[in-house]
Amino acid sequence: MTSNLAAAATSVELHLHLEGALNAALARTLHEATPGLPPPPKGAIVEGSGGVQWGFDDLGGFLRCFGWATHLLRGPEVYVRIFDELAVSLRAQGVVYAEVFVAFGQMLRAEVDPEPVLRRLGSRAAEIEGEGGPSVWFIADVTRQWGVAAADKALDAALDLLDHRIVGFGMGGDERAERARAFGKVFRRAKAAGLGLCCHAGEGTDPDAVREAVEALGLTRVGHGVAAVADARLLRELRDERITLEVCPTSNECTGVWDPRAGEHPLARLEAAGVPVVLGSDDPAFFKTSLRAEVERARQWGFSEAQLSKWAANGWDAAFGEAAGISRERVDWPAAGADPQKPARSRES
Ligand SMILES: [Zn+2]
Repeated sequence: MTSNLAAAATSVELHLHLEGALNAALARTLHEATPGLPPPPKGAIVEGSGGVQWGFDDLGGFLRCFGWATHLLRGPEVYVRIFDELAVSLRAQGVVYAEVFVAFGQMLRAEVDPEPVLRRLGSRAAEIEGEGGPSVWFIADVTRQWGVAAADKALDAALDLLDHRIVGFGMGGDERAERARAFGKVFRRAKAAGLGLCCHAGEGTDPDAVREAVEALGLTRVGHGVAAVADARLLRELRDERITLEVCPTSNECTGVWDPRAGEHPLARLEAAGVPVVLGSDDPAFFKTSLRAEVERARQWGFSEAQLSKWAANGWDAAFGEAAGISRERVDWPAAGADPQKPARSRES
C-alpha cells in the first residue's frame, strides 16, 4: 500500500446531490425563518445525543424527507451556503473533481428561478477552483415521479444555463412511478446539447429497470444500479459496454435497499463481474457519510488499495466534464507498475 494509491481513491466524486448536503440543523433554522412553508414530515427531523439529524426508515421516507428539504431552498443564498460547506468537505477529503446534482425539477416546482441560482453556483465554483479546488461541475437533475412534461421543462431551463458549469443531465426520484423509457426523448435532447447522461435506476427495483434505463435513455452512467447483480447477462452487458455504476453503499443501507444482515453489499459481486463502479456519497448530510467514509468502508470490507484506486480511475473515465482531463493530472496517481487505468480485475481479498 502506498500513500498515493490511497489519495487517488477519493479524488473523484460523481454521485452527490447538492440538496443532499443540507444538514438537518440548517434545515430547521431555514424552516423557522421562513413563514408559510409546509411542516416537516413526521419524524423527519430528530434531536438526539448526536445533535439534530434527519430521520427516516426507508427509501420512501427518505424521498419524503428530501422532497420537504428542497422546499427550504428558496434562492441563491442558501444554495451557495450549502455549496460552500460542501466544497470545504470535498477538499478535506482529497476530492479533486466532482459533478454535483442540482435538482432543476424541484426548483421549477417550487417556483424558484434557476438562473440566479446557477449563476451564483457557477461563479462560486470557479472561485473555489481558482483557490485550489476542488473543480466542481453540475448535473441538472429531474424528478421521475413528476413526469415527462416537467422533465422537459427542467431540461429547457438547464439548456439556457449551460455556461454555468452544467455538464450533465440526470434523473432521480421514485423509480416505480414512471418507466424510464417514457423519458427517452428528453434524454436524447439533452445528449444532442452535449450533456452527459445518467439516471438513478436499479436502486430499490430490479435488473430490468437498469437495462431499460441504459437502453432507452442512452446512459453511460447509472445511479446505484445495484439491482443488476441479480442478472448475469446484464452484468456482462454493463461490463462490455463500460457502463459505470455509481455505487453508494451507505445510502443503500440508510434507505433500506440493502440490509447488511442479509449479506454483503452487491459491490463485491459487481466488482467480481468486472462491471465498472465508482463510489459515491449520494446525500452526505442525510446519510451521515462522505466519499472518504465510503472508501474507508470498502477498505474495511477487504477491497485492496489497487481496487479502490481503480474505482477512482473508473470515475475519471466516466466523468462528463472536459475539465476532468485537466483535473485528473493533479491527482497523485500510483507509480508505473500499478497503473490505475489498467487495474487488476480480481478482488484481492
Ligand atoms: Zn442519488
